[in-house]
Amino acid sequence: MQAYQQEREQALAKTALALMSEVGVAPTPDNFELFYTYASGSNPAMGEIIDRMISARRPFTSAVLDDLRTRCLSSARTTQALDNASSQVVATLNAILGKLDAAGRDAGDYGRALSQASGELESEQSPADLRRFVDTLVAATKTMEARTHALEDELQRSSQQVNALKTQLEDVRKESLTDSLTAVANRKAFDAELLAATADAHANGETVALMMLDIDHFKKFNDTWGHQTGDQVLRLVAGCMAENVKGRDTVARFGGEEFAVILRRTTLDNATVLADQIRAYVQSKKLVKKSTGDILGTITVSIGVAQLGPDDTPTSLIQRADACLYAAKNGGRNRVVNEAEPGELQIDAA
Ligand code: GH3
Ligand code: MG
Ligand code: MG
Repeated sequence: MQAYQQEREQALAKTALALMSEVGVAPTPDNFELFYTYASGSNPAMGEIIDRMISARRPFTSAVLDDLRTRCLSSARTTQALDNASSQVVATLNAILGKLDAAGRDAGDYGRALSQASGELESEQSPADLRRFVDTLVAATKTMEARTHALEDELQRSSQQVNALKTQLEDVRKESLTDSLTAVANRKAFDAELLAATADAHANGETVALMMLDIDHFKKFNDTWGHQTGDQVLRLVAGCMAENVKGRDTVARFGGEEFAVILRRTTLDNATVLADQIRAYVQSKKLVKKSTGDILGTITVSIGVAQLGPDDTPTSLIQRADACLYAAKNGGRNRVVNEAEPGELQIDAA
């Protein structure tokens, strides 16, 4: 899945770059984003405008490009395109690194081979013209060697810079997918992972379970103890969830005081057991206000659990897990409800 996506992104990036050079657009990140979106076909309205401009041979001036960006790239799409662009940049940088490595080796080998050949020729007893030839060759070789050294140094410096840039990009990417308050995945990362897990499950027949969790009476807690203590509770609950899951599961802050866990290769029954473990674990924590030492009592959570069915989309799966969550709230809170317990479900008839 990931390899396929990377291939597709690379192909799109190539198409976008080729098109940019064909129509004389400077290869800046902003322009790349525009043409990458165009190549991906994800924005038909913009596609139509660009198609018309190309067939009428209208120049892509910077005013035209700015206008296209303002009119056609909504902020959500911009984020998506930037995201693609940044993963593309990482892939491209990797490819460049590979090439730089190979080029550095080749140049070094060439220099050494020439040196060796000239050394052999020099030691031969030869006629005068051969001697001159050898002198010329030796001089050329020395120049080549000097250049090779310079090139190798330069390659070395470039690859260090590229590596640093790559690390920075990866950090930025990680940060953009993490919730800053609780350090679990943010909504954007959740949406992407649920989409990927759904696609993988439909392709491979794997099971995927989804847990939706909401803190009980959190508003009252906030009102009594203040927002900062509320934030401390959010971190505690996120931590309890993260401690109880395995590496391939994704704990995410779904929004406000709601959290979710995407469980790949997990059945409804196992997800329900895990949900109850998390519920009990949160309840077992004794809360103390750090600044005053006040005992804050316990926190409880309600959890809904659903399993992906063959006709499910991410949205329909979320809806079912959410309906279970609200059944758990209606059933008295501090409990887990899964979709195999229809008695407790209160899904709207609509
Ligand atoms: P229920 O048991 O039905 O879930 O009751 P509740 O009070 O938890 O539910 P409700 O949805 O009425 O309130 C959620 C509250 O969560 C509202 C808001 O004060 C609080 N909240 C949402 N996001 C944050 C946040 O980032 N930090 C803090 N401290 N509180 C938040
Ligand atoms: Mg809520
Ligand atoms: Mg709540």
